[in-house]
Amino acid sequence: MYTTRFAPTPSGPLHFGSLSTLLGAWLRARSQGGRILLRIEDLDTPRCPGGMARRVLSDIDAFGFDFDGEPLFQSSRIPFYASKIRKLEKDGLAFSCTCTRQSLKHSPCRCFERMSPLPPGTPCSIRFKPREEISGIFKDELLGAVDTGDTYGYLTLRRSDGIISYNLACVADDIATGVTEVVRGQDLMYVTPRQEALARALGHEGFSYLHLPLALESPGLKLSKQNHAKAVTDAMAPQQALLLALAFLGQDSSWARPSMECRDILIGAASRFDPSRLPHRSAAAPAGVF
Ligand SMILES: [Zn+2]
Repeated sequence: MYTTRFAPTPSGPLHFGSLSTLLGAWLRARSQGGRILLRIEDLDTPRCPGGMARRVLSDIDAFGFDFDGEPLFQSSRIPFYASKIRKLEKDGLAFSCTCTRQSLKHSPCRCFERMSPLPPGTPCSIRFKPREEISGIFKDELLGAVDTGDTYGYLTLRRSDGIISYNLACVADDIATGVTEVVRGQDLMYVTPRQEALARALGHEGFSYLHLPLALESPGLKLSKQNHAKAVTDAMAPQQALLLALAFLGQDSSWARPSMECRDILIGAASRFDPSRLPHRSAAAPAGVF
């Protein structure tokens, strides 16, 4: 069965960009009778202030979205991710890396060539060493063949501060929860070929992908929590934000009215969802959303 997910990082409240991605993923699933899961990517605790996950859930709720099953919190699954790292190590597909951000600027990581184990307690990250060369190219359901130009394979699995990496948790959870298609923003396109290699190393045949355009605060600048985008629920009524997000995704919203219930807007939009109208390129967000 078609299954996708929405996987916000609770580093700030839901902004218009996240709402558009959530709406796109939800419509993609519900328009074909498929499932959509909700996953809170709260592993990077220094970036996720306490209570923000609850705020994001209540923001999502205000728009009337429904999901299949309970939300999955990545912070409760650390032993599961650790078991995946052990499996990759056992298969010879992971290695300890002592490179720093600074050293990687000057020379690429060659730590996988190290013959003897590191002395216990040496600060290191654990990285993935794919079996095969990475082409940097993948197929996107919206954009066709995408060449990311990114052939560097050594994804981090566990950071040197001990935090499980976004990439490992994302791929392991997508496999474990039966995701068939990854719908997300185009800001994550660059990492897709490497995540595909990681999925194969974990014994999965891969996902289909649909990368949605981003809502930009101004040309070239992503609307994100990092640049302090306003919570969309603070900027306007949820119905109005849904109508703007529908228009941003190229969908017909002429039938909908701000006086309608959110739930009725969502159901009406799912029955009219036309993926061929999704824009390919990121664009400026509508005025007033941040
Ligand atoms: Zn290294």
